[in-house]
Amino acid sequence: MPTITIDTHSGFCFGVVRAIAEAERQLAFPGETLYCLGEIVHNTEEVQRLETLGLRIIGMEQFRQLEDARVLIRAHGEPPSTYEIARNNRIQLVDATCPIVLKLQQRIKTGFEQMQARGGQVLIFGKAGHAEVIGLNGQTGNRAIVVESLQEVEKLDFSKPTMLFSQTTMDAGKYAEIAGYIAAQCEKHQVDFKSVDSICKSMSQRAGQLRAFALQQDAVVFVSGKQSSNGKYLYSICRSYNPDTFFVSSADELASKDFLDARGRPRFARIGVCGATSTPMWLMENVAERIRCFCRGHAGASRNAAFENQGNMQEDPSSRHIRKAGNLPAPDGSRQSDPESESR
Ligand code: SF4
Repeated sequence: MPTITIDTHSGFCFGVVRAIAEAERQLAFPGETLYCLGEIVHNTEEVQRLETLGLRIIGMEQFRQLEDARVLIRAHGEPPSTYEIARNNRIQLVDATCPIVLKLQQRIKTGFEQMQARGGQVLIFGKAGHAEVIGLNGQTGNRAIVVESLQEVEKLDFSKPTMLFSQTTMDAGKYAEIAGYIAAQCEKHQVDFKSVDSICKSMSQRAGQLRAFALQQDAVVFVSGKQSSNGKYLYSICRSYNPDTFFVSSADELASKDFLDARGRPRFARIGVCGATSTPMWLMENVAERIRCFCRGHAGASRNAAFENQGNMQEDPSSRHIRKAGNLPAPDGSRQSDPESESR
């Protein structure tokens, strides 16, 4: 039986825990519907769990139509225009914006005002269209420049004062590369440059923690919603340090053949289960339990063979049950999906 370890550092970050706790607290009071503007977390299973408690996820178009309602703002935060719509439509906001994001919004607002007064510019290193970036750029009236790569930065004009911020979940190495390039350009033009490294510490530490975890395992199962950009990034780290890394969104996507060899014996001695900052712990526990089931199937089969070898004709009901469970195919009959390569 392999050792199956769940990474203790994986799971929801502080901001997401706080937003979900607030949603659960509000949903505990029966009565008025609680809407949430956008998915509270990029994880379908957790969203479905909260929907069964009564949460209703809505998009911006539905939000604009609401009146006299109660709406939760998730950890990503929102631009000022969302608060204005709420005021006009008598919408009561339950604001669960992560305090770190909230502080960053304020810093970007102040930074933009300073840059405007000096004819300068504000850059945000982040994913265009991401909810947090929409909230951050909203502080500047959408006048900050959102960049995702060094290639995009290289096309910009740095003959004016520049301030650089980052979406909280971006890669720290890429940020340093971009900041280094801008610093050199601004120095060449003899203008000021201020770099505000606003990557969340819970994110920047995750990469190192995950690297250490992946190296300790023979195989890694990374659990995350397919829409989570944080999930895709952390999965790529795991896979670069452990090529036997599988990506699944739930236990139902696991396939026994990935963990058992042709003779039904476990392929790996140590299997690690980890996830993104949007992956609930209960989902990782489900995944670990399903892998145990696959491997127990093998143990059951071995025990049964031992009975037969000893000429013991007594039936062992528990081993029969275990063997049957171990032979179960993946519910969809397929191998787990991999956001980077379908051939894995
Ligand atoms: S990653 Fe950090 S900043 Fe973003 S929601 Fe989580 S705790 Fe807040």
